[in-house]
Amino acid sequence: MPLRARSAAARLILAGLVLVPLLAAAREVPAPAEHVDADGPYVFMTSKGHQAQWVCNDHVVERDLPARGAGTVVLPECGYPHPLTVAAPQRASTAQYPATPRIVAVSDIHGQYGLLVKLLRAHHVIDDDDHWSLGTATLVVAGDVFDRGPQVTEAFWLLYSLQQQAAAAGGAVHFVLGNHETMVLYDDLRYVNPKYLKSAQLLGRSYPALYSADSVIGQWLRTRPVMLLIGDTLFLHGGIAPQNLDLVRGLDATNTLYQASVGLPKDQVKAAPDTARLFDGKTSPIWFRGYFDGQMATDQVDALLKDLELKRIVVGHTSMPHVSSFHGGRIIAIDSSIKNGENGELLFIEDGAVSRGLLDGSRVPLAEGKMGLED
Ligand code: ZN
Repeated sequence: MPLRARSAAARLILAGLVLVPLLAAAREVPAPAEHVDADGPYVFMTSKGHQAQWVCNDHVVERDLPARGAGTVVLPECGYPHPLTVAAPQRASTAQYPATPRIVAVSDIHGQYGLLVKLLRAHHVIDDDDHWSLGTATLVVAGDVFDRGPQVTEAFWLLYSLQQQAAAAGGAVHFVLGNHETMVLYDDLRYVNPKYLKSAQLLGRSYPALYSADSVIGQWLRTRPVMLLIGDTLFLHGGIAPQNLDLVRGLDATNTLYQASVGLPKDQVKAAPDTARLFDGKTSPIWFRGYFDGQMATDQVDALLKDLELKRIVVGHTSMPHVSSFHGGRIIAIDSSIKNGENGELLFIEDGAVSRGLLDGSRVPLAEGKMGLED
């Protein structure tokens, strides 16, 4: 090899040696944003009632709210635009419910509140004032409200309020925890929108501490399930790996174990024998992608569902351009890439029939999915 060519080759190898570790390097926590237009409320429980805090145009606004019988009303300041009623969250004793004629499902909101509102309004899940208008039907949100986008706070309060309004109308809203909920709560902030690190700085807490057990949404998150069974449809964020069937068989115990470990340090939950597989980055119910990456063939998926006596499993986490059907409809992927802030879809399950709802309000059959690998 001529010297010049050899040195070119050496340069390439050297570049590779430098580049590969750089590309493989762990993502870092972003620096806080310079400025926060509007964020809040963050509502904390105090000895006298509640305290609500906002960041409005870089200024902290605080309001003390004395306890009242039915719940504390928080009027809007900036951020979430509607009045809220905060009340002690109820932890349901079970996340297994009988079949219901009408279910709407969505997932992976990732701070895209405006798009969520548009999508829910287009299908009359909410009215023009963002109030529940689905009557006795059920809305399932399959995790990942946190991270990436700029309106996480607003999205949580919308879901929190819709849950109250739905319950009052004889319907239901179920929020199922995703891996980004567990990440933020155990202080893995690599995907947090920089705006929230600035908010946290101004409010004098760490970002996870804005969702600690003394905060209303923090407490609400600590009482949500990771797995939800409605009739013979299982909803969860990632998926059930073949070695984790027992976690579904003991569904309520699994949820209890997750709830007890949300907010504990990352190293601890990943190391402790009873929680390690609940937080495993590849196989756990909040991280698994094996239905979409070739790990599981259709006959294996069929066998898994048959073992669990399920008709279908509905999951988020693995992003698709559309709500999509996999393995002959046994698996339905509902992360429709809302995180990009451009488009989004809903899944409808009505008397056992599935369809998807588009952003323009139309309804179409499910597309057969193609493999996808991001969350
Ligand atoms: Zn996810």
